[in-house]
Amino acid sequence: MTPSLVIAIDGPAGTGKSTVARGLATALHARYLDTGAMYRIVTLGVLRAGVDLADAAAIGAVAQNIELAVGSDPAEDRSYLSGEDVSAEIRGDAVTKAVSAVSAVPAVRTRLVALQRELASAPGNVVVEGRDIGTVVLPDADVKIFLTASAEERARRRNDQNIAAGLPGDYEAVLADVKRRDHLDSTRAVSPLRAADDAVVVDTSTMNQAEVVTHLTELVEQKASVTR
Ligand code: C5P
Repeated sequence: MTPSLVIAIDGPAGTGKSTVARGLATALHARYLDTGAMYRIVTLGVLRAGVDLADAAAIGAVAQNIELAVGSDPAEDRSYLSGEDVSAEIRGDAVTKAVSAVSAVPAVRTRLVALQRELASAPGNVVVEGRDIGTVVLPDADVKIFLTASAEERARRRNDQNIAAGLPGDYEAVLADVKRRDHLDSTRAVSPLRAADDAVVVDTSTMNQAEVVTHLTELVEQKASVTR
């Protein structure tokens, strides 16, 4: 039997990571695991519980008891909190603003990392997307990719998405938010965002998403033929 491939994709927000990771999973007939969605589900649970975002112990307690599930089909974005489909709600502003604080709590990470390892270990190829997959969650992944793009380019993309969604455009505010999240994610004590030493760093600033998917598919095929 052909061994399963485990592919880790990390990088900051706004690199097109989710779309690219889904595209890669589809091209490889692999399952897809969106670990950011898992942090978002816990964050929604924390917000619904009315917990103070500065109270790490209370956040940890919510995370410990929360019932969460995510789909593994790259064509479908599905997230559940206690059986309720919260796929749209976890992408909203309230969760996006609070998620960095919640994901910095060690007890949250311990619970979710264990769950991520369990989900990734099921048979078959899998693409796992997040911030710490190649460094912490799956350090033995067969292929590690770290996507980057300049903060300005990522803010421009996010601002364009907002305008396309009918929201008012505010490039400076979006840029400030991108930088704030980068700073929080890369300076936190537990699992800061950084490329694994053996990751392939891909700068997507001047590539469109289809080009990135093609590039990554070739990269994975090369690596897989060397490994096998
Ligand atoms: O990928 P997405 O933007 O949905 O992730 C939301 C947030 O979850 C990130 O800003 C980060 O704070 C956190 N996260 C994390 N570790 C991961 C995935 C996401 O800390 N593996």
